[in-house]
Amino acid sequence: MDKLKVLKKYFGYDSFRDGQELMVDSILSGRDVLGIMPTGAGKSLCYQIPALLLPGITLVVSPLISLMHDQVSALNQAGIHAAFLNSSLTAGQYRTALKYTMEGRYKIIYVAPERLMTEEFVSIVSKLNISMVSVDEAHCISQWGQDFRPSYLRIMDFIDQLPYRPVISAFTATATREVREDIMALLNLQNPVCLNTGFDRKNLKFMVQHPQDKFKTTLSYVEDHEEDCGIIYCLTRKVVEDVCGKLQREGYQATRYHAGLSDSERKKNQEDFIYDRKKIMVATNAFGMGIDKSNVRYVIHYNMPKNIEGYYQEAGRAGRDGLDSECLLLYAGQDVVTNQFFIDRMEQQESMDDETAETIQEREKDRLKKMTFYCFTNECLRDYILRYFGEYGSNYCGNCSNCLTQFEEKDVTVIASLLIGCVKTSRQRYGMTVIVDTLRGSKAAKIMKFRMDQNPFYGKGDQVPVFQLRQVLNFLILHDYLLLTDDEYPIVKLTALSESVLEGEKSVVMKVAKEEPKIKKEKKQDKKGKKTKVVEGLDQEVDRELFQQLRELRLEIAKEEKVPPYIVFSDKTLIHMCQLKPGNKEEMLEVSGVGEMKYEKYGESFLSVLKSGILTK
Ligand code: ADP
Ligand code: MG
Repeated sequence: MDKLKVLKKYFGYDSFRDGQELMVDSILSGRDVLGIMPTGAGKSLCYQIPALLLPGITLVVSPLISLMHDQVSALNQAGIHAAFLNSSLTAGQYRTALKYTMEGRYKIIYVAPERLMTEEFVSIVSKLNISMVSVDEAHCISQWGQDFRPSYLRIMDFIDQLPYRPVISAFTATATREVREDIMALLNLQNPVCLNTGFDRKNLKFMVQHPQDKFKTTLSYVEDHEEDCGIIYCLTRKVVEDVCGKLQREGYQATRYHAGLSDSERKKNQEDFIYDRKKIMVATNAFGMGIDKSNVRYVIHYNMPKNIEGYYQEAGRAGRDGLDSECLLLYAGQDVVTNQFFIDRMEQQESMDDETAETIQEREKDRLKKMTFYCFTNECLRDYILRYFGEYGSNYCGNCSNCLTQFEEKDVTVIASLLIGCVKTSRQRYGMTVIVDTLRGSKAAKIMKFRMDQNPFYGKGDQVPVFQLRQVLNFLILHDYLLLTDDEYPIVKLTALSESVLEGEKSVVMKVAKEEPKIKKEKKQDKKGKKTKVVEGLDQEVDRELFQQLRELRLEIAKEEKVPPYIVFSDKTLIHMCQLKPGNKEEMLEVSGVGEMKYEKYGESFLSVLKSGILTK
């Protein structure tokens, strides 16, 4: 069988994604490889496909039990014999797994780095034909990475004990030079084929908001995304408790995760989320490492995190399946204060010499500053992130809140002189509302009472939208062209700069958001009044009801098989089904993500739902 047949038969995909083929071909030709690809790019297939084509067994080193568990479930679902060896197995299970390993029952074996050097394992493995050792999350080998694991350093010792050297492949999403060099050196890769597909996650839409009321904003967001799974990250346990409690009281299926909960509750809540029993996870940054849930549609940061590294990692948990997903950051000034507090406290805890502590603290402060700038920049947000990581973007991605609003410089001198003139001629006696109402020619009782309808500027601004009058007035106050007293009823007064505008000596230029173009609406009603959802990226409308029915079937199957729903079929696969509406086996196999094995297991059930769905239309 060739690689494309394997891709289709077991995984149900028609073509490789960016970079995958190069990795597969290189491995099959006996070369070591290092693949640097962003989260969700499809690193697993890069070693799983060659693993099925190579004559011997592939060992995959992976850092986390949850990751191994997920991957092995997915492989088993696809009809591939695979197993994992880690501390979650009982002694009995472990022995059985080793026995099957010896009998050659598994083509792919996931193993925790800690297991590699145990005598039993080494002695068994040296009698087997090991074609490849693949190191997933390979940045764990580097002290420069965020998730350094000393046990990863044993991988080389292990390989040295094998009777001959297998192909070594390594994969990570971390792209910094230090990490890359560490991986190549510490794994002793021989003239490897290196692939770096870049850091960008095109399917993620980045957004920043500075809301008055964060909870209200969050609530309206989750209301609009009721069907979707999402994560809400908060800076502290207290905020997690608060937000989760409020969402639950509003009737949402939310659960929580932070270091203050018992192990058993954390485990349960995490599973509730992964198995789609709870749609919303409210958590501190303790949540997420090793979570491969592919259908997270949004990540909201209820607070600004302390650096871009953390932000991109957490936000990156959205959209692993490649479907469009959103990352919304809700900024407030208090977030800076809280992070600053964490940084200050961190220094006191560490038992390091003063100089090192100071350097680290400075670095953290600098990172916090760059994170804060992200929340204020008017430039493309994606570009800002990519530049932070040393890559160049195009200055305009068209898929972030800045690119979508578009700012423009506007000369507002005329409006400014109307406002200032009005303040002057009314002898600096009124507040902002009266000034604005006078300019727009309001007939409000107050205006009449103050005889402002007699003011020479009355109605002179009636061509300007009210919000803009206010915006310019705010700008004038902020930039000292006018002044607002801090009385109980603040009064607008002139300043030394006021006259220069009236005299025409100074022009006032201000950055304003272009009137917001109505951005795509997620939901709309079709002719029959059914709700349909526009799925961007696929550019096709999906019958929401059918999609929902398929999801329900998937959930049923997942419960029976005791695996997370996305392991049965991804959202993307279900959407593709809704679009193709296959009517028989042949057509069903055309759906991306439906391989032969999965067809045998579930094809008929899904076909029958599709048929009934189509009939009712
Ligand atoms: P990574 O490890 O790089 O974060 P994964 O290997 O977990 O990514 O893959 C992410 C998702 O992309 C999975 O759901 C996987 O099935 C899917 N995928 C991988 N390769 C392809 C492909 N060639 N075509 C379609 N989907 C793919
Ligand atoms: Mg992976």
